[in-house]
Amino acid sequence: MSMPEPPLALLAELTHRCPLQCPYCSNPLALEGVEGELSTEEWCRILDEAAALGAYQVHFSGGEPALRKDLPKLVRHASAAGLYTNLITSGIPLNGEKIDALAEAGLEHVQLSLQDTLPEEADRVAKMPGAHAKKLEIARCVREAGLALTINCVFHRQNLERLDAMIELAVALGAGRLEIAHVQYYGWATENRQALLPSRDQIEKANALIADAEARLKGVLLFDHVPPDYYARRPKACMGGWGRQFLNVSPSGKALPCHAAETIPDLRFDNVRERSLADIWVKSDAFRRFRGTGWMPEPCGSCDRREIDWGGCRCQALMLTGDAAKADPVCELSPDHGRILQMVENGAGQETPPFRYRRKAN
Ligand code: SF4
Ligand code: SF4
Repeated sequence: MSMPEPPLALLAELTHRCPLQCPYCSNPLALEGVEGELSTEEWCRILDEAAALGAYQVHFSGGEPALRKDLPKLVRHASAAGLYTNLITSGIPLNGEKIDALAEAGLEHVQLSLQDTLPEEADRVAKMPGAHAKKLEIARCVREAGLALTINCVFHRQNLERLDAMIELAVALGAGRLEIAHVQYYGWATENRQALLPSRDQIEKANALIADAEARLKGVLLFDHVPPDYYARRPKACMGGWGRQFLNVSPSGKALPCHAAETIPDLRFDNVRERSLADIWVKSDAFRRFRGTGWMPEPCGSCDRREIDWGGCRCQALMLTGDAAKADPVCELSPDHGRILQMVENGAGQETPPFRYRRKAN
């Protein structure tokens, strides 16, 4: 067995609990409960193992990771282990004092999600009155604490018209980076596809606006933008390739090659309570199954992009073709690409139904 390169990052999903209920949340439909969450000691061991394995950074994520009271302790531990520390947060449970404590513990970067620039719209998506105002306050606290700030916004048909306003807001908040995400149609988002799927016209306008803003704001704001799947001609390199860069650990300790990997029924996932991270990364069935290019059928097997996009997303292939080992249907070369075209045609021009919200986890 050839040894894989070490992972770039550990995605530490500390909890699935979250005060918000975004209808495109990437957490699984079956949210893990608080009673099964890993303990502080278990997370500290995993952080040590990730550093020993050669990971460079840890993203504390969720749900809402700041709901864990031990977050400062985990940040301190990760920092002492030599990991670059990033907090991916809704901001809701934080305040100035807590952010200062996290900075003092060694936190280096905060990625704060905003849902929209219009407060009432942002609060409607998050399903929490006052959420947007709180987030703006948190952005200010993050900058005052001297931490690097990325604003993340998931765009969809109901907020794309305010992309330019979001760019201005990110600059005004002192963010160094704006992550322009598009909805990934897994989990909760598939329940809301009709309410979220943008039109081709919206996407083309957005692409032009981003290109213009990138040139105009060079040196001020970095843009992180992956065009939305359904309007692309080739797929994204999902997770930078299966089992190549990221190692996701769920709140109860399941080690996953990506956050949606559990939707693939015939994969067996190891738990960090039972096996070391290094053992899982190198040998586990789930990580090896789609690693590299050996598993690829045609058209990917002989394609010259196979080590660029790694055949796209396995979970999307499963969802749209029933077979996780097929080419991602987003690819125009896939024999299943018609499904994407059909979905866009069926969805984009239709009226927008109300959201089906993510349920709160306990
Ligand atoms: S997407 Fe929304 S609901 Fe899901 S974890 Fe993030 S803030 Fe919470
Ligand atoms: S055929 Fe496969 S490897 Fe080639 S571009 Fe399409 S998805 Fe990527």
